[in-house]
Parts: sequence; structure tokens; C-alpha cells
Amino acid sequence: MNKKTVRDVDLKGKRVLMRVDFNVPMQDGVVTDDKRIRAALPTIQYVLDQGASLLLMSHLGRPKGGPDPQFSLKAAAEALSKLLGKPVQMAPDTVGPEVEKMAAALKPGDVLMLENTRFHKGEEKNDPELARQMAKLGDIYVNDAFGSAHRAHASTEGVAHYLPAVSGFLMEQELEYLGRATQNPERPYVAILGGAKISDKILVVENLLAKCDKLIIGGGMANTFLAAQGCDMADSLVESGSIETARNILASAGDKLVLPVDAVIADRFDAEADSQVVDVDKIPAGWRMLDIGPKTLALFGAVLKTARLVVWNGPMGVFEFPRFAEGTFAIAKLLAESGATTVIGGGDSASAVKKAGVAKKMTHVSTGGGASLEFLEGKELPGVAALNDK
Ligand code: ADP
Ligand code: MG
Repeated sequence: MNKKTVRDVDLKGKRVLMRVDFNVPMQDGVVTDDKRIRAALPTIQYVLDQGASLLLMSHLGRPKGGPDPQFSLKAAAEALSKLLGKPVQMAPDTVGPEVEKMAAALKPGDVLMLENTRFHKGEEKNDPELARQMAKLGDIYVNDAFGSAHRAHASTEGVAHYLPAVSGFLMEQELEYLGRATQNPERPYVAILGGAKISDKILVVENLLAKCDKLIIGGGMANTFLAAQGCDMADSLVESGSIETARNILASAGDKLVLPVDAVIADRFDAEADSQVVDVDKIPAGWRMLDIGPKTLALFGAVLKTARLVVWNGPMGVFEFPRFAEGTFAIAKLLAESGATTVIGGGDSASAVKKAGVAKKMTHVSTGGGASLEFLEGKELPGVAALNDK
């Protein structure tokens, strides 16, 4: 990675302003899942161990442009305090004179949680004035919120222009593993794409196609490619506006592209729908493809067997319905047992590998849904671009 990390700067005696993703689920003022807080612990602990004081900032939910106690980060501060085994002070605001006073009083090892960045309208507008006020609070800016790095907000991008700016360990890990999908991949490199719509992921298809050795396509996305090849997809989700694009991709990709040969079809879009397995060119009228079939699984499995790197984005079927989850779960298990480096991007894909019970067996499951997708499109994320180069 060509961006500086917390390891590259001297933190002793400094005030560290760190952007984290504490956008955690809550109920009755209590954090119900502290996974994201735990994910930031290695960087938090490191910064404190170096003899710095720490100011944490994050967004939480979607408050409507002003303070709203319902979206306070107080509960997150309490959850963090328990995990760290030390007090975490809570600031009454993100920025301002009172917060500046609290920041100035911090001693090495102290932790101060700033209030929700989205209590300020300037956050999402990336207002330079708000960014400057944030920067006043610290000596060094650390960004460990990969999941927000695709957004150019004051706390993720703007503030980085006013302070030395480096990444935390979580950010570093995301960039390292997702970076393998786009730079110097291990080969053979097999990418798997799925999910609902091809129009959401055209740029991902094109970017990965240019980098990988084989591109497996499943899920709803495959339907449009199959339709472009002349299959009658009956009532399957097909994006007629993207058939032409699919045809062009098919023509240029040649045998790099691997498509389903059979399907699990349903007589309606419903968890309790009747289902049967047919070849993709034999879908009866009134039926729709909701999962890949067993022959497809064997075909995809044979391709995956050869891989040293697999990047997967997008489920192979409607895995929310148990009857149509087999393809997605089977691919997840194949990856779990393969010796390849396995990188999972995309929010639904991450929950699918978790549901399949194999998330821990993957080399890397990205914590950033939208951010990982934009990364796989080959875009530079604004929150990453703003960090200092090595
Ligand atoms: P990710 O969040 O991993 O990027 P997407 O959001 O692109 O993935 O796609 C996930 C959705 O795609 C799931 O809700 C799943 O039900 C849907 N999907 C997958 N295959 C099909 C299909 N054959 N028909 C309709 N929807 C599908
Ligand atoms: Mg999704």
C-alpha cells in the first residue's frame, strides 16, 4: 500500500483525531452489535500504547441535519469503554469551543468520543469550514473507517487536507486485500460476480474482466447475459436495457466468461414457491431463475479449483429464500475449503458467507459494502486518496 499508516508517524504525546465507523445498531440506547467497534480496537489500542491521546469521530444513522439524541454516539462510547476497560469521555458536539477545551485537556492515554458528525449539515457537503474545525482538535488525522471511504465528507476527506493524514490498521487491511483484486493479482485469478442487477455492476464487470483470468457470472446478473445469448428467460429478472451491453461484453470476453448452464427455477417470487431444475435454455413460460443448478455448480467448481486468488461479489441466487440459497452457500463452502486467497466484497455477499457459516474461513471479508464495490470498479476512494502517500 502506498499510503502512510499509523506505523509511519510519531504519535508520542500527540492528540490523534481518528475517524472510525461506529455506525452500530442500537436499541433503547444500548449497542446491540459491537462488531464495528471491535474492528477498530487494534488501531485504538496501538495509538494509546504509543503515548497519544485519542479523539474518535463517526457518523451514526441518518439524523436530519441537526442534533438528535436518538442518534447520539453516547452508547457507542459506553460500549467502547467496556471493551477497553477504561473511561471514554463523551463530547457534547463534534466541534466547537467546548469540545476544543475538552480536547486541550486530554492527557496521553485519554479517550474522547466526539458527537455524531452528521449533526452538522456541513459533514455530507464536505464543508471546508467544518473540516477546519475538526482539524483544530488534533495533531494527526487517522482514518480507519473504510466503509465510509467512498464518500467525500468533512470527516472522511475534507479534514485530511488540514492535518498529517494516515490510515489505521482496518483501512490498511481492506486496501491490502481488495488491492490484490486490482493490482498484481496471484494467478490464476478467478472473479465471481452475481447479485440482482447487471446495471449496478457494469463497471465492476469491465474492471475485473480486464484483470482476471476467468470471470464467473451467476445470480440475477447472469440472466441478462443468458438472454443476450438467445435463451428465453421467461419471467426471470432480465434487464432489457442492458442486453446490448451484455452482448458486447460476451463478444469481447470470449471464453474468459463462465455462465450458468442450468437453473433452479420458481413458479413465483416467493420463499414457498414450487421449484425445479432445468437447463437454462428450457425455462418454461411463467417460471423464473432464482438460483444456479447442480451442473453449473460443478462447472464453476472446476474453474475455482484452479484458482490461486478468488474475488467474489454478489450472491448466486436469491439466498434469502432457503430453497434458492444452495448455489450461493455451495460456492461459499467451496471457497472456504480451497487453498486460494479468497476476498469477499459487497454487503449481501458478506452476509451470505456469514449465513453459510464460513466467514472466518475466508482470507478477507470486506466491512464496506458500497466502498468495496467502488474499489472493485477501479475507482480511487476519496477517503483513501486524501491520505498522505508513503
Ligand atoms: P452485494 O450486496 O453483495 O453487492 P447485490 O446487492 O448486488 O450484492 O445483490 C444481492 C441481491 O441479489 C440479493 O438480495 C439476491 O436476492 C439478489 N439475487 C441474486 N440472484 C437473483 C436472481 N436470480 N433473481 C433475482 N434476484 C437475485
Ligand atoms: Mg447489496
